[in-house]
Amino acid sequence: MISFRQGCGLIDRLADTQSLERQEWIRLIRGRTPELSEYLFTRAREIRIRHYGHSIYIRGLIEFTNYCRNDCYYCGIRRSNRNAVRYRLTKEQILSCCETGYRLGFRTFVLQGGEDGWFTEERMTEIISDIHASWPDCAVTLSIGELPREVYQRFFNAGADRYLLRHETFDASHYRMLHPASLSAAHRQQCLWDLKEIGYQVGTGFMVGTPFQTAENLADDMLFLKRLDPQMVGIGPFIPHHDTPFAGREAGTLELTLFLLGLIRLMIPRVLLPATTALGTIAGDGREKGILAGANVVMPNLSPPQVRENYLLYDNKLCTGDEAAESLQNLDRRMQSIGYHIAVSRGDSLNLQP
Ligand code: SAM
Repeated sequence: MISFRQGCGLIDRLADTQSLERQEWIRLIRGRTPELSEYLFTRAREIRIRHYGHSIYIRGLIEFTNYCRNDCYYCGIRRSNRNAVRYRLTKEQILSCCETGYRLGFRTFVLQGGEDGWFTEERMTEIISDIHASWPDCAVTLSIGELPREVYQRFFNAGADRYLLRHETFDASHYRMLHPASLSAAHRQQCLWDLKEIGYQVGTGFMVGTPFQTAENLADDMLFLKRLDPQMVGIGPFIPHHDTPFAGREAGTLELTLFLLGLIRLMIPRVLLPATTALGTIAGDGREKGILAGANVVMPNLSPPQVRENYLLYDNKLCTGDEAAESLQNLDRRMQSIGYHIAVSRGDSLNLQP
């Protein structure tokens, strides 16, 4: 345990130097208390407001396929889940989502999906170039998993600006407890270094409260984030899905997720930090609490309404109400009620590579 004064001392040092030693991360994460969290959030908000003011950036999330060749133990769209209702959008449907999104005020589109071989390099390149040509003032973000470096390069050349690939957990043995042997922490991390070298604005992150996760694992995640120095970090609680091997496991907590959001804001002050859908799913006011802990991005769902409920990564995943892109005004009202507002902009990260 650490005293409140010791905890504040560590938080102050993190704010001043943007780093802590592994043991210090472990002590802080293990020794957190509600009082310490409040102190952390106050400091995180100050830093967030210094760099991003009271603006909240939005991204239009297009979940364009739920076919996946992978079999991650936690994920509802894993290959082995025979009960998943599979779908993939056509290029025309994807472009129509962008058109709707643009009208609503989105200036960045995130194409997210399972690792689906139907979307070959040629098909993806065409979709990326068409979006880029039709909405040149918008950023195109991909989140389609692990691919060879040359393919990432070709997508970049076609007009993709950003790539989201959570590292999930840094520690190789913990990674093995969450994934089949065909997937490795080392390969996933290599993809992130490749993406960075190519020049993408990179987003990474991890789930909070996955089975077997320890404070040591989280400390290693923080050290990895520090080294990678990404433009965006997406973290959200693990939430079980009833048709996966982790069906009976406990979900990660709102409390620990918020604490980690605050710590990441202090460690990488200019990073983009989304208040994720999973955070909004485990608590009605999860997104607002995320913003008040230092987050500055939300990613409403722009997928066609008829497929939304089939992109079920975990049970009860939000996809309607204020989660839906069409409800942007409601979302803005909610954000205004806590003193923030949604910005119509590409929302580029200020944590850019030198
Ligand atoms: N296939 C791409 C990839 O591998 O990055 C993108 C899609 S993948 C489903 C997007 C993210 O969903 C994963 O990085 C993971 O962190 C999150 N996710 C999957 N299952 C989850 C669960 N049960 N609870 C919370 N988040 C989950």
